[in-house]
Formats: sequence, structure tokens, C-alpha cells
Amino acid sequence: METYGTLPDGREVRIFTLENRNGLRARVTEYGAILVSLEAPDRDGKLADVTLGYDSLAGWLTNNSYLGATVGRFGNRIRDGKFTLDGKEYSLAKNNTPGGIPCHLHGGIVGFDKVLWKGEQDGNKVVFTYVSPAGEEGYPGTLTTRVTYTLTDDNELKWEAEATTDAPTILNMVHHTYWNLSGDPSTTILNHVMEIESDAYLPTDAGLIPTGELAPVAGTPLDFTTPTVIGDRIDADFEALTLAGGYDHCWVVRRENGTVRPAARVSDPVSGRFMEVSSDQPAIQFYAGNFLDGTAEGRNGVRYARRSGLCLETENFPDAPNQPSFPSSVLRPGETYRHVMIHRFGAE
Ligand code: BGC
Repeated sequence: METYGTLPDGREVRIFTLENRNGLRARVTEYGAILVSLEAPDRDGKLADVTLGYDSLAGWLTNNSYLGATVGRFGNRIRDGKFTLDGKEYSLAKNNTPGGIPCHLHGGIVGFDKVLWKGEQDGNKVVFTYVSPAGEEGYPGTLTTRVTYTLTDDNELKWEAEATTDAPTILNMVHHTYWNLSGDPSTTILNHVMEIESDAYLPTDAGLIPTGELAPVAGTPLDFTTPTVIGDRIDADFEALTLAGGYDHCWVVRRENGTVRPAARVSDPVSGRFMEVSSDQPAIQFYAGNFLDGTAEGRNGVRYARRSGLCLETENFPDAPNQPSFPSSVLRPGETYRHVMIHRFGAE
């Protein structure tokens, strides 16, 4: 544990390093419970950072793209920034306007990615805790949350979230690292090969909010049931892709929720690195970094261009609070929210 820097209000922010016996190294910080970096070996054993990020705390303070973040309270979009729970309507910040249509995104203006967590390291684990006051960003209930990062000797980085509440609320915590397995984020992820354990995706409207329909991937450019090069079809003339400017969709993960099962696998043919993602959540968002536009200056002075990193975010369905047919995102007093996400790294 070291001091990483200080917030404008003077509070100290700390950073922790996890290392396993194969040389993998992860750094995580109390600011946003963010994964700052992850170094993984290529097929020749050469280590490189496979995440997008910043050189110092100052960069993370202007992190508008949620690099490395722990997103909350609600990951992805909520239509019109509104939802009704037990007959009462709640209003949230409308902090995103895809297609010119305002919605709530990733917990609001000061989401979990922009608050100071309290971290504690115990061997290969760092536990971050945060109590979100009732009414924070418009959400009901005092939420007591915990996010644990664990780096195992099996080359797994686990991100686990847990939460309890003192009043009914909604919740969808998400881990939002951008990956570029080449280790060189001045290149794009278009040559990466993707496989998603899913037969159906959620079509969206122009505001990138799910319509409520579950559409089969078969016969569409969203079919990743077999390993497919991302760049092969990302710009296909297919409505879901033209609306989102590429891949930015929620895929329904095969097999039962609540048990940890494979969700996706991505690999980089050049370095040989691969990452397998598994989780207990109903779905996974694959976002190809289409909105990165080269304005943010990242680590080592690299400006993150369009599609220079991809996110694989296990989650509940976007806009679930407004869609009765989607899995419930309601958390009530006495219940515990749990989300397990495992990234396993290797090289081939
Ligand atoms: C969403 C994108 C959004 C991005 C923000 C992703 O989870 O799917 O639509 O632009 O987060 O960084």
C-alpha cells in the first residue's frame, strides 16, 4: 500500500499492488475502486499492461469514459433517468445523450467510480468498502457496499461486489475496465477474436435503451457463438450496429444466472494473450470503445482513439428497473446483492 495522491478536498487516496507467482501484477486504488493496471505475460512471457488508464491520480479524476471503474449504483442506462419502485417515482441525473436522447448512465454524475472507497489489503486480496447515503445521485436506501479484488496463482483476477440496503432500492454494479490485450493501446482491438456464450442480445432504440425484445444472434453480426474477429463485422450494415456505432450491446449469457459460468473469451492473435470472463450475472455488455475519440490522454501520453480498448461488463440487463420482463434489479432490506466476475488470463 502506498499513497497515490490527494483529492482536491485534501483526502488521501491509496493504491495497492497485487502480484502472483507467475508475475501477473494488478494495481487498484481507493479512488473509484478502480483497476489502475493489469500486467500479463504474452506467449513469450513478456509482461505488458493490458488495460487503458492514466499515469497518475490526476488523470483518473477526469476519467469520463469510466476506465477501470467500479460502476454503480446502476451500470448502463436507465430510460429518461426515471424509475418507479413500490409505487414511488424516482428521478436520476440524465448524464448521457446517445442519439440526442437523454438518459441516466453508470450511476450518474458522481457515481461509484468517482467516490473515495476505503481499501484494505490482506495478502492477494484488496477489500474496498463504501457506504452510499440514501438519496445519493437520487437513489433510495443507504447502501453498504463492498468490492473485493483478488489475484490468484491461477492467473485469475476476481472482482466481487456485495451490497445491503436499509430501504428498497435498485442496483446493478459493474466492472468497467477497457482491455487491449496487445499491451499497446496505440493500436485498436479490431484484430482481437471474440467469443460470447450467448444466443440472444437486447436490441436497443436510438437512445441505446433496450426495447424489451430478446433477439436471436443467429444469422446476425452479433453472433459470437464461435470465435470471430471483432473487426470483421463491426461496421456491417445492420441496424443494431449502426445505432450504436459498433458493438455496444447486452448479450444474454447462456445457462442459469446465479451460478458462475463462462460468459466471454477474447484473444489477441499477435501477442497470444487471452482473457476468459465468467460470472454469475444474467448478461454481459460488450462495448468496443466506439465512443473513445482520442481526446483523453492516457498512460505514457497515448491518446485513446476509437476502439483502442474494449469492455466486457457482466451485468443485469440495462434499464431493468423499467422492464417488467427483465430479471429484477430490486434489492430489499435483509437481502444481499452479490456479483462475482472472474477474468482468467493466459497466452497461447
Ligand atoms: C456503455 C457505452 C458507454 C460507455 C461509457 C459502456 O458500458 O455500453 O455505451 O459509452 O460505457 O464509457
